[in-house]
Amino acid sequence: MGAVGADLRGSLAESAACAEGAEGLDQELTGSWGREPGSTPDRAEAMAPPPPPAASTPLLHGEFGSYPARGPRFALTLTSQALHIQRLRPKPEARPRGGLVPLAEVSGCCTLRSCSPSDPGAYVCIYTYPQGRRGGRRRATRTFRVDGAATYEENRAEAQRWASALTCLLRGLPLPGDGEITPDLLPRPARLLLLVNPFGGRGLAWQWCKNHVLPMISEAGLSFNLIQTERQNHARELVQGLSLGGWDGIVTVSGDGLLYEVLNGLLDRPDWQEAVKVPVGILPCGSGNALAGAVNQRGGFAPCLGLDLLLNCTLLLCRGGGHPLDLLSVTLASGSRCFSFLSVAWGFVSDVDIHSERFRALGSARFTLGTVLGLATLHTYRGRLSYLPACAEPASPTSASGLPRAKSELTLAPDPAPPVAHSPLHRSVSDLPLPLPQPALASPGSPEPLPILSLNGGGPELAGDWGGAGDAPLSPDPLLPSPPGSPKAALLSPITEGPPEVPASPGPPPPPPTPVAPEAECKWGPPDHLLPPLGSPLPPDWVTLEGDFVLMLAISPSHLGADLVAAPHARFDDGLVHLIWVRSGISRAMLLRLFLAMEHGSHFSLGCPQLGYATARAFRLEPLTPRGVLTVDGEQVEYGPLQAQIHPGLGTLLTGPPGSCRQGP
Ligand code: ADP
Ligand code: MG
Repeated sequence: MGAVGADLRGSLAESAACAEGAEGLDQELTGSWGREPGSTPDRAEAMAPPPPPAASTPLLHGEFGSYPARGPRFALTLTSQALHIQRLRPKPEARPRGGLVPLAEVSGCCTLRSCSPSDPGAYVCIYTYPQGRRGGRRRATRTFRVDGAATYEENRAEAQRWASALTCLLRGLPLPGDGEITPDLLPRPARLLLLVNPFGGRGLAWQWCKNHVLPMISEAGLSFNLIQTERQNHARELVQGLSLGGWDGIVTVSGDGLLYEVLNGLLDRPDWQEAVKVPVGILPCGSGNALAGAVNQRGGFAPCLGLDLLLNCTLLLCRGGGHPLDLLSVTLASGSRCFSFLSVAWGFVSDVDIHSERFRALGSARFTLGTVLGLATLHTYRGRLSYLPACAEPASPTSASGLPRAKSELTLAPDPAPPVAHSPLHRSVSDLPLPLPQPALASPGSPEPLPILSLNGGGPELAGDWGGAGDAPLSPDPLLPSPPGSPKAALLSPITEGPPEVPASPGPPPPPPTPVAPEAECKWGPPDHLLPPLGSPLPPDWVTLEGDFVLMLAISPSHLGADLVAAPHARFDDGLVHLIWVRSGISRAMLLRLFLAMEHGSHFSLGCPQLGYATARAFRLEPLTPRGVLTVDGEQVEYGPLQAQIHPGLGTLLTGPPGSCRQGP
């Protein structure tokens, strides 16, 4: 492990040195890894950031050579959104190719120097991930020679000015109006704890992490520690026992399930109020990557799946920036509580999710197959859904201030448009040379061989000089272990609660569910002041609907899957839970159309009379059909009545900056 740390760290040493000189700036600058300034309602007015420069305003301009030195010469112009590259010699390009590098496609940059002491030039290397003709991203480095001055020292200072300015823009840090741009402007490298589930999705999580994620976050100058999970709930136990002080973020490399574990682990600590503030990130390597789909959309990228989605989300992660994340506290029939960042599902959605587990090898296509099979054997379920409409006055004034309100009570569909002891940790990789806050993370006596990463620095002639990871990609070591294996709402007739009606014949019920693991209960976390005890009558301002349903879905963010936009208007911090239901009587063809339209979030435009939608701050779901499947964030929980309330902005999600081509949340 030491050698691993030394290898990676070597090339990052100078950026750490830069950070030491920037002590006084840490507080403000590390903001790029906490929440975005002004992202919480109460802080928004107090911390109004200075207006950013217009996208087309040139911030830096200069003439550069290339590497090797005999190559063409370029004029470079840096704006807040892109690096413009124009070839000057041997002859200006009639049609510049690759002349515009949007910062959204840049993971990081570094400065380099020639191994030849007689070369006075300094080099700036920029790591880019442009889209190829077929749409997929490919890594491409752009290296420019700074050679306007006679001495290396002067050229190096200029190279550092460009690299620092670019890094500041990538991280959303302000550039000094008239002061000098130097590496001192940059904070210390952010430290990330990466948790990889080698079984996520098609079992490619580790391979993708090693081949794509680690190189990119190294290029961004971030530090990381990586742990492969060994079993279900490993990540949860790990964060429950983790000393949180040293981390700028905990990032899961898997599907939504691993982040669910992490958030529940953070909230199940005596110090949950502090713990839940640690920014969390998600890098999609699972079969269910709903949150990543929402992050991708917020980042301004076109919808995509697979490796493209991973590269987009990693580019966003490299830029830092946390955003408040609503969390839903879900109380189950047994009284146990868990926290959801994504969804509570009953009926068709949860059936497909759980019954498609056996097609895991197909990756996200498992849901498509599951949907087709689910349509063939469509069930209906009798139940009661009660909710506190978003526009109702809150029971307690504390949490409701600043919440967006729905227009009406029955909202119509939106317009389309004590620390747990943990086991020894194996399979950890680190670029941090120091023992980690948790000794086991750095244990050299790990019974399994630790994966080794090596970094090829700088190519044959160039040596790392400042920040970044050198001119050549990380090369995977062969010793690395491979992973084992409506416009219209439904007829909403508020009814008074009474004894459960006799369930309608729902067809053959699905197999009995697996109860939630007892350790998955959260004993800590914020009180649910909007919820009376489960089983007690609900306050009069709640709305209740009862009947036969095909599905019920409570969703916090916009996406139900990486390519399923269930609640198009949902935002990470809108303080709302979006309730979507489909009543019985819908034809299979219409249900299929709904799911196909959901890809573009246009399902509410189909005019389906069985489709209903409401925004709420709390809800209660009482299944009256004796058997069925309930999921929270795609994980199966005990079947029975449950209730939930939203806790606005309780968590922090690493999202990167909002995309410029669409409205941010
Ligand atoms: P996917 O989207 O592919 O389902 P998830 O991140 O949701 O990926 O993970 C699937 C399940 O695997 C989750 O229940 C998670 O808790 C569990 N898990 C995490 N690590 C491991 C592991 N090492 N072995 C087996 N299961 C694991
Ligand atoms: Mg999952």
